[in-house]
Amino acid sequence: MKLKSSEPFWLVRNGLLHSYPSLAKDTETDVLIIGGGITGALMAHQCMKDGYRTVLADRREVAHGSTSATTSMLQYETDMPLYRLLQLHGEKAAVNVYRSCFNAIGMLSGIVREIASDAGFEEKDSFYFAARKKDVPWLRQELDARRTYGFPVRWLSAGEAEERYGLQHTQGGILSAGAAAIDAFHFTHDLLAFHHKQGLEIFDKTDIRRVRHTRQGIEAITEHGDRIRARRLVWCGGYESVRLIPEEPVRLFSTWAIAGERCPQSLKYLQHTLFWNTTSPYTYLRATDDNRLLIGGADEDFVSAELRDALLAKKAAQLEKYLHRILPDIPFRTDFVWAGTFGGTPDSLPYVGTHPGYPHTYFVLGFGGNGITFSLCAMEMISAMLRKKKHPLMPVFRFGRYGPYAGAVSPRAL
Ligand SMILES: Cc1cc2nc3c(=O)[nH]c(=O)nc-3n(C[C@H](O)[C@H](O)[C@H](O)COP(=O)(O)OP(=O)(O)OC[C@H]3O[C@@H](n4cnc5c(N)ncnc54)[C@H](O)[C@@H]3O)c2cc1C
Repeated sequence: MKLKSSEPFWLVRNGLLHSYPSLAKDTETDVLIIGGGITGALMAHQCMKDGYRTVLADRREVAHGSTSATTSMLQYETDMPLYRLLQLHGEKAAVNVYRSCFNAIGMLSGIVREIASDAGFEEKDSFYFAARKKDVPWLRQELDARRTYGFPVRWLSAGEAEERYGLQHTQGGILSAGAAAIDAFHFTHDLLAFHHKQGLEIFDKTDIRRVRHTRQGIEAITEHGDRIRARRLVWCGGYESVRLIPEEPVRLFSTWAIAGERCPQSLKYLQHTLFWNTTSPYTYLRATDDNRLLIGGADEDFVSAELRDALLAKKAAQLEKYLHRILPDIPFRTDFVWAGTFGGTPDSLPYVGTHPGYPHTYFVLGFGGNGITFSLCAMEMISAMLRKKKHPLMPVFRFGRYGPYAGAVSPRAL
C-alpha cells in the first residue's frame, strides 16, 4: 500500500535522521515489534523499560509510513464526541477513554523530557468550533458532558474567537486545555535512536513476509528468508494491517494536508491552539513551530494512491480557499502539499489487544483521527497484557466489539 504521497512536510524538513541495517541473519528475542512508526517506537520504549530483549523491524525506513505524513494534532477529544461515546459504550468506558487520552498527552510530555527530544513538543489548547448554526446545540451538549466529567472546557463565542484569533465564520465552540503538537517523524527517530543506544535492535528495510505460530511463540520470516524467533509479537503495522482483520468494520480513506510558506507576520496568537470544525469530514488547522500554517482534511472515501495523488492540486486549492475564508487577514501561500491514507472505525476508537486468529500476538492499531494519542494509551495496555494482567481499556479497544465473529476464526499466517 502506498501510505502517502511523496512530499510530506516533515519528511522534507528533517531528511533521513537515522538509518539502520536490514536483518541479515537469524535472531532470537523476547518481543518482536513489527512496524517502526510512532506506534512501534512507543511500544519499543515500553518494552525496553519493562526489561524485555526487544527487536523492531520495518519494511521501509523507520518512520516513513503514515508517521511521516501526520499533522500530529494531539487531542484527548476523539472523533466521536464524549456525549455520543457515553450513549454508545456507557459511562465507565466512555469516561475512561477520554481520561486515558487526556493523560496520554502528559505521558508524551514526560517521554520527550526523558529522552531530551527536540521534536518540537508543545502543549496547546484545542478549539472545536461550529462551522454551521445547526451544529451549536450538539456542541453545547458536548460542552456539558465534558464539564460533568471534569474536563477543562469553556464556550468561546464567535465574537471571542474573532477577537482572539481573527477567526471568521464560526458559530462559537468548545475551547479546551490539554492538547499538544509535535513533529511525530522527528520524535519517532529520537525515541528509536535513544533506545538503540540502550540495546534495542532495529532493522529497517526488513519486510516480514510470514509469521509462523509455534508452541512457545512466533517465528517471523523476512523477504530474504532470515528468521526472528520471539516469545511475543507486537504488531504495529499501521493501516496496511486491515487485510489481517477482514471481519472488522474498518474504513480506509484518503486525506490531504497543506503547509504554507513561513508567514511574514508572527502567528504567535494562533500558536497555542489547535483548531478543528464540525463539518463532516472535518477540517483542521494549526501553526507550526517555524511559523507556518498547516491545514488538512477534505477526506474522500477511497484509498487508490493514483487517484489520491492526482487530486493533490485540487484539494490544496480547496483547503487554501477555506483558510482564506476563516483567516482572511493572513497572507497564505501553499509551500507543501501531501496526502495520506487514513483509517477509522465506527466508534472512532482503535484496536489494541489480542485476536483469536493470531496466537502470541498483540495488535496496536491506532485507527481514528487520534491515532497517536491512542498509541500512547496502548503503551500501558501492552505492558499489562505482556504480563497477563488486565487493563481497564481492554474491553473497549478489543477486536470483535461490534458483535461476535460470523464464523470461527482459526489461527492464520500473518
Ligand atoms: C495526513 C494525515 C494527518 C494525520 N493527522 C493526525 C493527527 O493530527 N493526529 C493524530 O493523532 N493522528 C493523525 N494521523 C494519523 C497518524 O498519522 C497515525 O495514527 C500514526 O502515524 C500511525 O502510526 P503507526 O506507527 O501506527 O503507523 P505507520 O507510521 O504507518 O507505521 C507502520 C509501519 O509498519 C511497517 N510495516 C507494515 N507491515 C510490515 C511488515 N509486514 N513488515 C515490516 N514492516 C511493516 C510500515 O512500513 C510502517 O512503517 C494523520 C494521518 C495522516 C495521513
